[in-house]
Amino acid sequence: MSNDKPADKPADNASDIRPGRLPDEQIAANFADMHPPLTPSEAIIDADRCYFCYDAPCTTACPTGIDIPGFIQKIRSGNLKGSAHTILSENIMGGMCARVCPTEVLCEEACVRNTHEDRPVRIGLLQRHATDAVLDIAPALFTRAPTTGRSVAVIGGGPAGLSCAHRLALLGHDVTVFEPRDKLGGLNEYGIAAYKTPGDFAAREVEFILGIGGIEIRTGAALGKDLSLKDLRANFGAVFLGFGLSGINGLGLDGEKLEGVVNAVAYIETLRQAPDKAALPVGRRVVVIGGGMTAIDIAVQSKALGAEEVTIVYRRGQEHMNASRYEQEFAQTRGVGIRTWAAPRTLLASNGRVRGVEFETTRLGEDGKLAGTGQSYTLDADVVFKAIGQNVSWERLADTAEILELREGRIAVDERRKTSLAGVWAGGDCVHGGSDLTVSAVQDGKLAALSIDRFFKGGT
Ligand SMILES: Cc1cc2nc3c(=O)[nH]c(=O)nc-3n(C[C@H](O)[C@H](O)[C@H](O)COP(=O)(O)OP(=O)(O)OC[C@H]3O[C@@H](n4cnc5c(N)ncnc54)[C@H](O)[C@@H]3O)c2cc1C
Ligand code: SF4
Repeated sequence: MSNDKPADKPADNASDIRPGRLPDEQIAANFADMHPPLTPSEAIIDADRCYFCYDAPCTTACPTGIDIPGFIQKIRSGNLKGSAHTILSENIMGGMCARVCPTEVLCEEACVRNTHEDRPVRIGLLQRHATDAVLDIAPALFTRAPTTGRSVAVIGGGPAGLSCAHRLALLGHDVTVFEPRDKLGGLNEYGIAAYKTPGDFAAREVEFILGIGGIEIRTGAALGKDLSLKDLRANFGAVFLGFGLSGINGLGLDGEKLEGVVNAVAYIETLRQAPDKAALPVGRRVVVIGGGMTAIDIAVQSKALGAEEVTIVYRRGQEHMNASRYEQEFAQTRGVGIRTWAAPRTLLASNGRVRGVEFETTRLGEDGKLAGTGQSYTLDADVVFKAIGQNVSWERLADTAEILELREGRIAVDERRKTSLAGVWAGGDCVHGGSDLTVSAVQDGKLAALSIDRFFKGGT
């Protein structure tokens, strides 16, 4: 009897990671736009559903405070340029946020039409309808004030940094953005799931933000390596820190360096930048450890590349997951399994490669703390993705950490996004107390810019 096995059926304990698990056209379809845009007539019909509430709860629920009934009213009257202006005046990344915001727990959850018998106005899609219509002419929507001669250093070209830079430039200040990578956009470019923002939308949005003028870009420049906060404070009138989170939380288990144990954010970055997704290798059996958006995104994208079995394992209950219920259900409809109340205990290896994970089931103890039950089960895996959160990676920013007040590993800021250091503001994922969403980073950047402007004018 021959021992030969068909090429697509490896021996049981051999790892099975390879590209081309699905036909190219299937992979392309799996990565297509998650929420295709509304047609003009669909937009009018949805705009007509809005009650134009006074003191609109949807606006209160929007972290950037967009006048939602105001922009919907303008769609209704055919004034898309005015509608986009209303949106972008509060949120310069209104186009990206229309694609990536968890509207189901923000504006659309608050919409008064969101009842058992009805459904909310599709605010996200309407916002996309308006902002997409003007993307190529958007710079013309805003006019930069005459230059004030004041200069600001912005550290990081992600949503927080770019939002801050745009508002400062609009107010006439001269901005220099320092960014280590070649491309701007931060996680909009490198992190957000490919099916939420297909094509080159992130890059096009950056282009229109920079179209305001007055923003100089220096790539290949990292704080802590090429720049010091001390020098920046000496050379600029103000500094904004928006460097996000570049460290990855570890599982705290032996074997994290095994082949096949992969940082989910790094793989997502590869996926976002890949010119041909069909060429990316993917495991047959994938286990994802975590319960947030990153866990959902890597699981869904592994499935989209053709992984046969994808399981998210989270140490608490489904209701405790950071990913919204909508995101969880989305993953489940894409064939991802979710197992809760289990924590990884051992990474199982064979010939230096991961071959599975042993999990211990968990429960809440009487003191309310998470405890192991002593019972365990094993999941076979060709790839194990770590998606249990990120951190600031202060070891690369030791000089900065020394002089700034931190809280729980992130920068402490007040409601104006001022740090403990005079002349230094911060926002986005690197600050304490935020919600780690694109829209919150944009709001932080805007608030910091307004505060810096007041500071330049002699206010506090
Ligand atoms: C996988 C993943 C999926 C996500 N999906 C969503 C989603 O669907 N919806 C949503 O709302 N949010 C999502 N988020 C969260 C969202 O992307 C972030 O909250 C947002 O990007 C934060 O913006 P930021 O500007 O603070 O940081 P970042 O986007 O991380 O940008 C920081 C910038 O600073 C630069 N930088 C880093 N170190 C330095 C340094 N030393 N010096 C100078 N510059 C530096 C980086 O290169 C980067 O360009 C997701 C996050 C991840 C990880
Ligand atoms: S809550 Fe709903 S109905 Fe009311 S203004 Fe907002 S989108 Fe319109």
